[in-house]
Amino acid sequence: RYVLSTELPVRVVVPTADDMRLLGVRLARLMRAGDLVVASGELGAGKTTLTQGLGEGLGVEGPITSPTFVLSRIHPARNGGPALVHVDAYRLGSAAELEDIDLDSSLAETITIVEWGEGLAEGLSDDRLEIEIDRSGDVADDTRTVLLRGVGERWQGVDLQALVPDQEAL
Ligand code: ADP
Ligand code: MG
Repeated sequence: RYVLSTELPVRVVVPTADDMRLLGVRLARLMRAGDLVVASGELGAGKTTLTQGLGEGLGVEGPITSPTFVLSRIHPARNGGPALVHVDAYRLGSAAELEDIDLDSSLAETITIVEWGEGLAEGLSDDRLEIEIDRSGDVADDTRTVLLRGVGERWQGVDLQALVPDQEAL
């Protein structure tokens, strides 16, 4: 079920992996229990790197890695806050398989991020933060472009541009 966003995406230029981690750390401040993040972008784009920053900002137990054999990991918070559920849907063929993980049972209490979630995770919630990471071109160039788009009531009026106070709106 698709819900149209009424807000334009925020575009962020991310020069290095450390900047990507920092973006994740900042993102953590916006997050509340029940939030869903759907991250997309090709292999090596930086989805897991962003998730590592998010985990750092949330103060959850690590390490956050690219899950090879598991589809989903729960990282409990060290500070009594919400846990981070990290899903890598790369090997999932269908939304039905995502349902098998039964994220519904944890969604309300945790912050859930689904890598490769586009086309799969939308059905989990009408409210979600969609994050698309693109390599900007040259293989030798580390720069990534990140598009952030809040979908649904939860994200109405949330100032995503505030994540990058030092960057002009592009
Ligand atoms: P994904 O989860 O999207 O497959 P990863 O986060 O696992 O991607 O890998 C991204 C790789 O690219 C890491 O090795 C990271 O250090 C590197 N990298 C280089 N520049 C950037 C950048 N600007 N943003 C994110 N990662 C970067
Ligand atoms: Mg990954």
